Amino acid sequence: MPHEILQPGALKTEDEHRRDICLVGRWIHERGFVAATDGNISVRLDPQRVLTSPTGISKGMMLPEDLVVTDMKGRKLSGRRNPSSELAMHLLIYQRRPDVHAVLHAHPPTATGYAAAGIPLNKALISEVVLALGCIPVARYGTPGTPELTEALEPYVASYDAILMANHGVVTCGPDLLSAFFRMETTEHFARVALVTELLGKQVLLSSTDVEKLLAARARYGLTTAAPSGTECPVTSESLAAERVILTREELAALIEEAVKSRSGR
Ligand code: 13P
Ligand code: ZN
Repeated sequence: MPHEILQPGALKTEDEHRRDICLVGRWIHERGFVAATDGNISVRLDPQRVLTSPTGISKGMMLPEDLVVTDMKGRKLSGRRNPSSELAMHLLIYQRRPDVHAVLHAHPPTATGYAAAGIPLNKALISEVVLALGCIPVARYGTPGTPELTEALEPYVASYDAILMANHGVVTCGPDLLSAFFRMETTEHFARVALVTELLGKQVLLSSTDVEKLLAARARYGLTTAAPSGTECPVTSESLAAERVILTREELAALIEEAVKSRSGR
């Protein structure tokens, strides 16, 4: 019988979760979201236990018996291998987000490019992305596998389902593994679209009214996370217009002349 990942996570047996993790491992590998032994995947089995990918093997080639069960402090309960070196990041997300039952970390090239450039994917460019994710911030760099990395992610975990990790990759989470995978796919797809708008040299952003309507629709889809208050997420056409400075031709010419003079020391 074909393996059915679409079944809701809560109804699954541990064996089914093991097969789901291996399947998503193959998907991220086949799509080029990871290279070599990159990435990690976990599922919250119950309030006390997490099932995680092991450290240091290709996530596209895992077998169900390679996976590791730990407690919520990261202590191994069963499995021949050692748990992912990024397990602390997964545990932080489970601790802060009772709604989350799966966490996925990968290095998809375009979104990781944005992360390495320190550029968040936070513009209201595509309606479906506003609906699905609101916006995607960049957490500052932290050495992989250390508390630095979890500390860097901490401010974002409560409010975002997809986070860029500076100079590293992307982490997504969701109520089940399929949702976490879709969020990774949406993040990488959006990064490509955003890059095309950069190449075209033009971005037309949605207005704040458009964004409000989309964010209201999020609640109807049962999506609970919202942008933290006080930050504009995503950036709309109005906020970009407010930042724009308009100069007359003469004012611009005077500014250029002044800059040239100061460079040549006159
Ligand atoms: P693990 O193989 O230990 O899960 O690490 C892969 C990774 O992407 C580290 O950031
Ligand atoms: Zn990584």
